[in-house]
Amino acid sequence: MKTKLGLLYGGKSAEHKVSLRTALAVNKALDHTKFEIYPIYITEKGEWIKGGQLNGPVEKIEDLQFSQTASSESAFSSKLFQTEDGKTFDVIFPLLHGPNGEDGTVQGLLEILNLPYVGNGVLASSAGMDKVVMKNIFAHAGLDQVQYVSFIKSEWNEKPESTYDQVEKELGYPCFVKPANLGSSVGISKCVNRAELEKAFQEAFQFDRKVIVEEGVTAREVEIAVLGNDDPKCSVVGEIVPKEDFYDYKAKYEDGDTALIIPAKISEEEYKTLSEMALKAFKALDCSGLVRADFFLTKDGRAMINEVNTMPGFTPVSMFPLLWKHTEVEYPQLIETLVQLGIERHKEKQ
Ligand code: ADP
Ligand code: MG
Ligand code: MG
Repeated sequence: MKTKLGLLYGGKSAEHKVSLRTALAVNKALDHTKFEIYPIYITEKGEWIKGGQLNGPVEKIEDLQFSQTASSESAFSSKLFQTEDGKTFDVIFPLLHGPNGEDGTVQGLLEILNLPYVGNGVLASSAGMDKVVMKNIFAHAGLDQVQYVSFIKSEWNEKPESTYDQVEKELGYPCFVKPANLGSSVGISKCVNRAELEKAFQEAFQFDRKVIVEEGVTAREVEIAVLGNDDPKCSVVGEIVPKEDFYDYKAKYEDGDTALIIPAKISEEEYKTLSEMALKAFKALDCSGLVRADFFLTKDGRAMINEVNTMPGFTPVSMFPLLWKHTEVEYPQLIETLVQLGIERHKEKQ
């Protein structure tokens, strides 16, 4: 019997397009003799659209974007997770990044429907999406990280000057201003003076009601992939060398010039530190399935955790799958392992 797998992708977030690319790659890599694939597309407006069963890999992103007329299901309904003859899918693979997907909301929906799904649960997803909550949990777990402060929009609106004063007093320049809940570097600015700080706040508050400001560090950026449930394993370490000033949206998705170095040239001791920190972060957020843990590594060997991504970029040329490839787990095998971990986790909860 084939496993009926619902592929959930698109989504009402700034990372919609990234999700489409991922869905295309995952569908291609899935073994269609083992899985029956059912695509569920969430449009940028947030409509849920069910496509017909995919009997083989599709070649073009457009073929995964259904128009509303393609289906009678354009609003959310639990029928989205059933075959035409009413059989419920065995597992859902949410390939969604950012808010309304990677942040626990969709995971909560799947919990209520009692459906097994791939990846992190509600708590880890939501805590991992909010950079302030995430960093507070990391601090509690004793993980080394940069200094940070956070503000909500209303306090900034009321007294903008005093928020800037506080940043200058507590962090100084350079600093990074980020929307608290986003990814793919959307809305993030590096600031080296007050004028830039003001602009950065305006920018970041367009995306969120909360921003985080961090001390800027000069360091290598290294990442490690974690896979598993209760007994997670770490991949080799990879390094990102952005051509731009920092690893911004353009560097991530538009110009392919950012070099990914896998494995990164680090010492054994540094590997030990990074992998221990990654596992600590995984446990601190109560993760399951997968996480990509991102670090700053300074010249003198200090490792600071920057963030974890509970649904990291997942195309075959993304860091997470490449890290596993170099750890002898190929893309199709990685996807199957994740599906298995999702099913196991669901069984354990029953
Ligand atoms: P996202 O979740 O959008 O990936 P990040 O916090 O990882 O956001 O920031 C995106 C990029 O910005 C990082 O990969 C790094 O290049 C740069 N960056 C972010 N925070 C800092 C910091 N505190 N110091 C130096 N560079 C930073
Ligand atoms: Mg992120
Ligand atoms: Mg990042």
